[in-house]
Amino acid sequence: MVLKSFVEVQPDSHFPIQNLPFGVFRPDPNSDPRPGVAIGDYVLDLSVISSAGIFDGEFLKNSDSFNQPNLNKFLELGRPAWREARATLQKLLSADEPTLRDNGILKQKALVPMDKVQMLVPIAIGDYTDFFASMHHAKNCGLIFRGPENPITPNWFHVPIAYHGRASSIVISGTDIIRPRGQGYPTGNSAPYFGPSRKLDFELEMAAVVGPGNGLGKPIDINEAADHIFGLVLMNDWSARDIQAWEYVPLGPFLGKSFGTTISPWIVTLDALEPFAVDAPEQNPPSLPYLTEKKSKNYDISLQVSVTPAGHKETCIVTRSNFNNLYWTITQQLAHHTINGCNLRPGDIFGTGTISGPEPESYGCLLELTWNGQKPLTLGGVTRAFLEDGDEVIFTGICKGEGYSVGFGTCTGKISPSPRDLN
Ligand code: CA
Repeated sequence: MVLKSFVEVQPDSHFPIQNLPFGVFRPDPNSDPRPGVAIGDYVLDLSVISSAGIFDGEFLKNSDSFNQPNLNKFLELGRPAWREARATLQKLLSADEPTLRDNGILKQKALVPMDKVQMLVPIAIGDYTDFFASMHHAKNCGLIFRGPENPITPNWFHVPIAYHGRASSIVISGTDIIRPRGQGYPTGNSAPYFGPSRKLDFELEMAAVVGPGNGLGKPIDINEAADHIFGLVLMNDWSARDIQAWEYVPLGPFLGKSFGTTISPWIVTLDALEPFAVDAPEQNPPSLPYLTEKKSKNYDISLQVSVTPAGHKETCIVTRSNFNNLYWTITQQLAHHTINGCNLRPGDIFGTGTISGPEPESYGCLLELTWNGQKPLTLGGVTRAFLEDGDEVIFTGICKGEGYSVGFGTCTGKISPSPRDLN
């Protein structure tokens, strides 16, 4: 029998009792940020639940980790504490448990309608890294930028490629993205141009949130890597392709990426995703021992990107992909990140890179979908090679279980124009 909550949850909800993703919110504009979990159309205020003494287990009794403006302290506690919190909350919210269900005063304080709250970036993000883990994306980028001879560079099959991103410009879903200005690639014999980006793009990604870190000089073993990952969010790694193409040789992405990255507000835990684990693709050539795990897994998460063109009401689906298109797993990414001794810290995040599938309908960015602008998309009567001012991009992600779904909600952002008074 499927576990049910006393809180009403619609059949198509992303947030049944099987999910219980963690976020940080303000119940109203004047109150302090505090952690919460999503249940149906409500947010359960964990600062209230914690103050009521409901977390009485080994790890969370007397802990102040839910009286914080972010989840970092909770993340640092590690998987035993995360499992204790999940078990406590799943029991508290279940249909046959009276503690909260029959306590009108506590219920009134603790359950806040989701449409009334302001969601915030749930973690203090010290460092952000972005990987390049979909083979289809790597291949398409190679074909577009370098041509058909060896589109995937030989290192790609041995090394999970990444670059260090910019943590300060990571914003919460719903935040407008200002079109960046910068230098664009010269055409023919002309000089590089400067101005608002002409090739603004989204990248369909997910990001892993780091729990307990590692000491400097102490790599994390591949088979223990999952214990250092709290969960996943949706991530839009907005990209200015013209700036990127001109600047990326030889040190990689910089201003073409660092103007903004959007994440979804709810961190879905690996424990909630476990029923949706699938085998990761076989790797050929075999990975080096430090990247070889006893069980290599992905998750079956259906991903979708829609665009609402500026001035239109209609939203058009532009791609459908799946998290299981990743070649390098998130545990391989984490183990690789630390193999040189680099220390990760609680609240760090790392993006998967654009999650493209093998079919053109599953490509994860406009660069691939329009083949660098050569084949514009038709979206409800307008065409798009890249994003225009006023366009809104909406990501969703969901795992379909038997009788319930575990979802990520949405990750949205609208393009606002570059300021006109800058030259
Ligand atoms: Ca990226």
